[in-house]
Amino acid sequence: MQKTLPKIRGKKPNVGLYRQAVRCGKLNCRCSSGELHKGYFYLMWREAGKQRKRYVPLRFVAELRAAMDRIRSRRDSAEERTRTSLAELREVRARLRAL
Ligand SMILES: [Zn+2]
Repeated sequence: MQKTLPKIRGKKPNVGLYRQAVRCGKLNCRCSSGELHKGYFYLMWREAGKQRKRYVPLRFVAELRAAMDRIRSRRDSAEERTRTSLAELREVRARLRAL
């Protein structure tokens, strides 16, 4: 079992997409003996110094990765990139809220 979240994408330290293994809580499930469920994605970022985390439904993962790739491929200044990534992040989060 991994103690740290495996990083899937993103060299940017402030925003990352992570896959996390979880325990579902059912007593007789295989995860109660340590074989955790995989495939739950979370978006993690820092906001005002606090670590934030939001569940990302599987159907949004591809879209989110594409958005993050777009951000990374830009050759703007670091400041501009951060602004852009936060804007895209807000957009994705707004979509997640609308579920
Ligand atoms: Zn389970």
